[in-house]
Amino acid sequence: MKNKAIIIFILLTFVLSGCSKSDVSKSEVDLKSSDSAQSSEIKKESSDVKIDYNKVKPNELGKIMVLMYHNIGQEESTWVRTPDNFRKDLNTLYEKKYRTISLNDYASGNINTEAGFTPVVITFDDGNENNFRVFEENGDIKIDPNCAIGILEEFKKSHPDFDTTATFFLNSNIFNQPEYVDYKLNFLLENGYDIGNHTLYHTDLSKSDKDTIQKAIVQEIEVINKYVKDYSVNTLALPFGGKPQGDDYIYAIKGGYDSISYNNNAVLLVGWDPYKSPYHKNFDFSKIHRVRASETNVDNVGLYDWLNKFDENKQIRYISDGDSNTICIPNNYEDVLNKDIKDKIIVTY
Ligand SMILES: [Zn+2]
Repeated sequence: MKNKAIIIFILLTFVLSGCSKSDVSKSEVDLKSSDSAQSSEIKKESSDVKIDYNKVKPNELGKIMVLMYHNIGQEESTWVRTPDNFRKDLNTLYEKKYRTISLNDYASGNINTEAGFTPVVITFDDGNENNFRVFEENGDIKIDPNCAIGILEEFKKSHPDFDTTATFFLNSNIFNQPEYVDYKLNFLLENGYDIGNHTLYHTDLSKSDKDTIQKAIVQEIEVINKYVKDYSVNTLALPFGGKPQGDDYIYAIKGGYDSISYNNNAVLLVGWDPYKSPYHKNFDFSKIHRVRASETNVDNVGLYDWLNKFDENKQIRYISDGDSNTICIPNNYEDVLNKDIKDKIIVTY
């Protein structure tokens, strides 16, 4: 490759890893410059992701922010962002070259963010009405333009390359308009958003025994699946950030109740800092940190504090190489790479 990238290893374990045969051969073809008809087609596909590493400076072991929101409302406070401030957050992220990815893609290391850009995850806790409010006008359901979904959908239209998405962590009272729960949950899934578990009654799992933990998690899955039957609810935001004690932590990840089992791909704490790359050797999908997406009472660890730290290089930022099949890192980061990752090509420069 032009840029003298060194391929450390290519492990073709596509059967086990779930990586398709064509994905692997695509990368292989790219490296070997094969001439076959099939490979030229594949080369064309992957030409989009050929980049000059020394210019783009990808670092796929840098940190990623998982932003934590609660309310969108008219008066800014600790847990409330005004509609205009939420719009400002989205614009700021966009202009500073952040692009949203889903929580599941982050946790599983399936990052397709455009080369040179930084992935960011948006989350909303508690399923408040101001996250997703609708009203009817002449028989049509309309979305309040000042609720979170209204603002996100508006932003998606004006900035299609932001890849707008978010995860909504829900309890029993789903967006507080009972007659529209079905409409709203289906709208979320049809429009690229995700639904996460925040337990049925916002239970503090740090004060719960293992049966209570599993029941609280499964009961929320049952409520969500009443409306979206086949949707796999496999992310959990711990209410109050309360971690189950000791060995019971496993029940935040997996368990069962009422003949329903669960296996979470991501468990989120409440937040104070950006979290590790999913390719970092110490990345723990069951203890993902979040960043408070606010400017009020954030103790210098809110969204804008971290944006400044990333700008000033006081925090190492994840920068994508644009290819989800490779992990591209500067030479001096190899020691923190998770060497057990088998389904990606490691590129250092
Ligand atoms: Zn909560």
